Amino acid sequence: MKPSCVLYLIIPCYNEEAVLPVTAPLFLNKIHEMIEKKLIRDESRILFVNDGSRDRTWDIICDLAKEDEHYLGISQSRNRGHQNAVLAGLMEAKDRCDITISIDCDGQDDLDAMNEMVERYLEGYEIVYGVRSQRNTDTFFKRFTAESFYRLLSWMGVEVVFNHADYRLISSRVLYELENFHEVNIYLRGMIPLLGFRSTSVYYERHERIAGNSHYPLTKMLSLAFDGITSLSIKPIRMIAGFGLLVSMLSFILIIWIVVQFFLGNTVQGWASTCAIVCLMGGIQLICFGVIGEYIGKIYLETKARPRYIISERTYDNDPSQNNR
Ligand code: UDP
Ligand code: MG
Repeated sequence: MKPSCVLYLIIPCYNEEAVLPVTAPLFLNKIHEMIEKKLIRDESRILFVNDGSRDRTWDIICDLAKEDEHYLGISQSRNRGHQNAVLAGLMEAKDRCDITISIDCDGQDDLDAMNEMVERYLEGYEIVYGVRSQRNTDTFFKRFTAESFYRLLSWMGVEVVFNHADYRLISSRVLYELENFHEVNIYLRGMIPLLGFRSTSVYYERHERIAGNSHYPLTKMLSLAFDGITSLSIKPIRMIAGFGLLVSMLSFILIIWIVVQFFLGNTVQGWASTCAIVCLMGGIQLICFGVIGEYIGKIYLETKARPRYIISERTYDNDPSQNNR
């Protein structure tokens, strides 16, 4: 068994003033409990990533950092979204720890699963996915849309862990490899499995949000889903090509039929079907252009290679010599 390790909890926070004062002590208790059990070392930290919140979230994080040395905070210069916030935290932590566990700050994910995650790491796993054993606390709609999304992703050839969100343990060794993925459209759930390494899952029950509201309404969920697919799979483009081929073949048959009709003298008829086909094809072409355009848009953003996160403030001095290790 490896000696106990330094753990950094990575916790993205966006407008969480209602929930943070409730959950922060829970995270601290968990860290203390694991230190006592000698699973992790005392240099372990809780790193909050403020994702450009507009409320008092950053003030709360700064107060927490003054209260207890186990709390640290970094702040993104503006809101960049959950995935970028998690990435910022992971990259910040990788030189300071042996393992990271990313978890939402709303108390929905069961903290007790962390012990098992660390145990799995000590057994030799580099990535440990937190997987929801059931979705009882979700509405039927959320459960249905989420599960359909996982199926759609795997059908598109994107490797994802079913019912795993962003609650996972990653070792710093793996994070150094993740750093080499330079893409700006990031969908961590699809990227982490691409890294390889020994990985496993632990199962937990997800609870209701302790306070505040979800930042993932249907529109954001759909955009995350769409991003997930178009960032990691080119199957939609291939499907368009296949569909185009099919339509061309059908049109060829149709043309033969039209010529036959012409010689039979029936050409005045068929106005309705002509119009219908023109409309249908116009619609299909626009959808196809839209999908291709989405990829071109992504290429455009990738060629710019803008920074994926910008840290504007820290609750601590960022001198590398101050690092724990
Ligand atoms: N979050 C973030 N930036 C955003 C939106 C959300 O950092 O732009 C954080 C949020 O504070 C929370 C986590 O991401 O810790 C998950 O968000 P939420 O709980 O609202 O999503 P849900 O659990 O409903 O899918
Ligand atoms: Mg949540």
